[in-house]
Amino acid sequence: MADKRDYYEVLGLKKGASEDEIKKAYRKAAKENHPDLHPGDKEAEARFKEANEAYAVLSDPDKKAKYDQFGFAGVDPSYGAGGAGGFTGDFGDLGDIFGDIFGGFGGFGGGFGGQARQQTRTGPRRGESLRARLIISFEEAAFGCKKDINISRIDPCPDCKGSGCAPGTTPETCPDCKGTGMVRTQQRTPFGVFQSSGPCPKCGGSGRIIRTPCPKCRGNGVVRAQKKLNISIPAGIDDGETVSLRGQGNAGANGGPAGDLLVAVQVRPSPTFRREGPNIYVNAGLSFVQAALGAEIQVPTLDGPVSLNIPEGTQPGAVFRLRGKGVPNVRTGLKGDQFVTVDLQTPKNLSRRQKELLQEFADIAGEKTGRKKRKF
Ligand SMILES: [Zn+2]
Ligand SMILES: [Zn+2]
Repeated sequence: MADKRDYYEVLGLKKGASEDEIKKAYRKAAKENHPDLHPGDKEAEARFKEANEAYAVLSDPDKKAKYDQFGFAGVDPSYGAGGAGGFTGDFGDLGDIFGDIFGGFGGFGGGFGGQARQQTRTGPRRGESLRARLIISFEEAAFGCKKDINISRIDPCPDCKGSGCAPGTTPETCPDCKGTGMVRTQQRTPFGVFQSSGPCPKCGGSGRIIRTPCPKCRGNGVVRAQKKLNISIPAGIDDGETVSLRGQGNAGANGGPAGDLLVAVQVRPSPTFRREGPNIYVNAGLSFVQAALGAEIQVPTLDGPVSLNIPEGTQPGAVFRLRGKGVPNVRTGLKGDQFVTVDLQTPKNLSRRQKELLQEFADIAGEKTGRKKRKF
């Protein structure tokens, strides 16, 4: 025990290091010295064990406090030999850490890491879905349209068709993991037997060995590509809705399907029309004379102006319905209606003759007007 290195020193830390720093330092040490990555390297194995031991103490607030105060005497290094105790408690955390360590292997960029941690790395994995945004006009939403969008995605390499091998060659099955991509190791530590399984270091978890990598994709089997897609926006789509294009996302791995492309549609408002679901709303200006006597007026619709008969005696705010002049339901194709709200307008800048007639109208109705006494 006399030749034991200080736990902080083992992890390259100063006394008083934070929980986060300890975790980070351990992760680094474990990653550098993990036996999976250094098969047969006794020194790496020793450093790995040392780091495990240091971390088991420093990651436990109770033990860390004792160690800080009393050194090795404060913590019993044979602790956990029976399999009980703190190490088990820390296991979830270690699982996390190894997930982090191995999450970075074999994946392309950060993309594939997430789903693949627990399972073998050679099974088919679906590609990531991508998101894009598209802005269209009110009318384009109502009638549907075709639009080009540019996306950047991960595609199977066109030269090797995704195999990662130079044209004319094929990948070999990895002899170390027999193509599974995973190897299991047992590690004896002072805290018990530590079993871990991780990606095969020889093939990087792919299960295959590529002797002559494809020069275009450097053996990845995938390349980043700029794509211009012509997409169909269905009639009736509404602001905030999404169009999904199956299989237009990133390429899958190991024969898995590609992800989807999800296009969020934003609809520009119209100066004329308002929309709620399948229904369209407009306001129509009407003079009070037209409202009183009835009139045929022109109102705008998505299909162009149509005439609307306003009956006599129409009140301000009255609403008229034009059946089937709305927007189709994006799924059923059934069209909504258009609603026309009457805005009553009071005539201004009347001529003397108009005023005389209106005054006469008021006199007949027995209505008082503010201007009665004034001479025109
Ligand atoms: Zn290639
Ligand atoms: Zn392998």
